[in-house]
Amino acid sequence: MSEVHPKISTKSPPHPIKVRTVDVAVIGGGIVGKACALGLAQLGLNTIEIAPDLGQTVPSPQGDQWGQRVYAFSLSTQKLLAHLQIWDALDHSRIQVLRDMRIYGDRGEKNDQLHLSAFEAGTPQLAWIGESNLVEHILDQASRFQNKLERLTDVVEKIDTDHEGVTLNLKNGGVIQAQLVIAADGANSPIRSELGISTSEESYSQSAVVANWICTYPHLETAFQWFLPGGDIIAMLPLPNKQVSMVWSTSPENATALLKLDQNGWSELLSTIANAAIGKQLGELTLNSAPAAFPLRKIRASRFIGPESSPKIALIGDAAHVMHPLAGQGLNLGLRDVAVLLNILGKRESFRSVNDPVLLRRYERQRQGDTTALLWVTDKLKRLFSANSNPERQLRNWGLGLVNRSHFIKQRLIERALGEIDFE
Ligand SMILES: Cc1cc2nc3c(=O)[nH]c(=O)nc-3n(C[C@H](O)[C@H](O)[C@H](O)COP(=O)(O)OP(=O)(O)OC[C@H]3O[C@@H](n4cnc5c(N)ncnc54)[C@H](O)[C@@H]3O)c2cc1C
Repeated sequence: MSEVHPKISTKSPPHPIKVRTVDVAVIGGGIVGKACALGLAQLGLNTIEIAPDLGQTVPSPQGDQWGQRVYAFSLSTQKLLAHLQIWDALDHSRIQVLRDMRIYGDRGEKNDQLHLSAFEAGTPQLAWIGESNLVEHILDQASRFQNKLERLTDVVEKIDTDHEGVTLNLKNGGVIQAQLVIAADGANSPIRSELGISTSEESYSQSAVVANWICTYPHLETAFQWFLPGGDIIAMLPLPNKQVSMVWSTSPENATALLKLDQNGWSELLSTIANAAIGKQLGELTLNSAPAAFPLRKIRASRFIGPESSPKIALIGDAAHVMHPLAGQGLNLGLRDVAVLLNILGKRESFRSVNDPVLLRRYERQRQGDTTALLWVTDKLKRLFSANSNPERQLRNWGLGLVNRSHFIKQRLIERALGEIDFE
């Protein structure tokens, strides 16, 4: 990375401002930003990653301490992590292979259920369940040894684009000149706002309460999901060592009440809901992490690239799209943005620079279909299962049973959940 020290003639700062010139700047230090920065550096591009929370390596989860944030990783995520050479470095004793999913309707009737099985679909697994900090820790380790990648703990204050590239002014006084900028700065993306990219945005008026539990019955490598009358959804995802990770989507008021429960309060509550089905399936549950709540909303950016006249910036991850966690796909979708971007930049024609607008438009085109389809399905499912009228209740419960009897539809659902992505 080259450094120049320009003469500044307006105000007179005590030291010359340090200007760094790089190929790509990635803004954001979540899993999506970290994976993208590492992948770009592995392509041989001089890359800088900037975020306020990049200071320390995320500690690896240890022993009986299980991370609060647990994700379902799809096949497309596994392929990307393998491509980045970090999948094998993960501690696989902390990752649970998911082979079955059982989804139950809210009438409590035996036929209102959908069973998706890896065995029936002829695939080794449906997904993997693991902790967020497990992946972040290895991404941090791999990034430290990547000499094309530099990390800055800082915040972007101002952003200017011209036909050459992008100039980023940082809070600590530094200036970065990058040919291409990738915004992975999360759901509230300041870069998206700075670019004036509009969003369609909707609150679900729900929060997700997450917690890990030890269960007395084996979970049988199965994820369970109960749709409850009134619109609540409870998912129990299997983890190693007879544990499950709960995601309970509920009203913000109920989420606040749930966070105040102690072990006895939880045991009492879980034994009554969904016709006591949770206990029948998983036995007694003992809390194994402090519960936490996250507000739920849907966001879709109208454009994934900007500025309009001469795009030099691409949005990825939650900066581009946020969805309800009922399908466990938000991060997977964001990592597919990364995979597509790496494919496009890695295979670009020799005469194209990394910020050629043609490449950015390719990226946007390729990501719009996947994003629109997944946001649409997740949103419609959420709404169908929140509706309280009798015909709608009957329709959705009948629908679950109907889909369950169709091998063809189930196969398509599984293909969708696995996620298509290939590296050449
Ligand atoms: C309860 C729940 C369960 C979920 N379960 C799943 C699941 O099972 N599977 C799945 O695929 N997805 C799941 N998701 C979705 C998933 O959590 C998100 O899609 C994913 O974490 C988004 O990652 P990201 O890196 O894009 O954004 P974030 O993780 O939000 O990271 C954004 C980064 O940008 C940085 N930043 C912010 N502002 C600035 C700035 N001005 N300058 C520089 N940096 C900045 C932040 O510090 C942060 O580092 C779930 C979500 C919820 C709420």
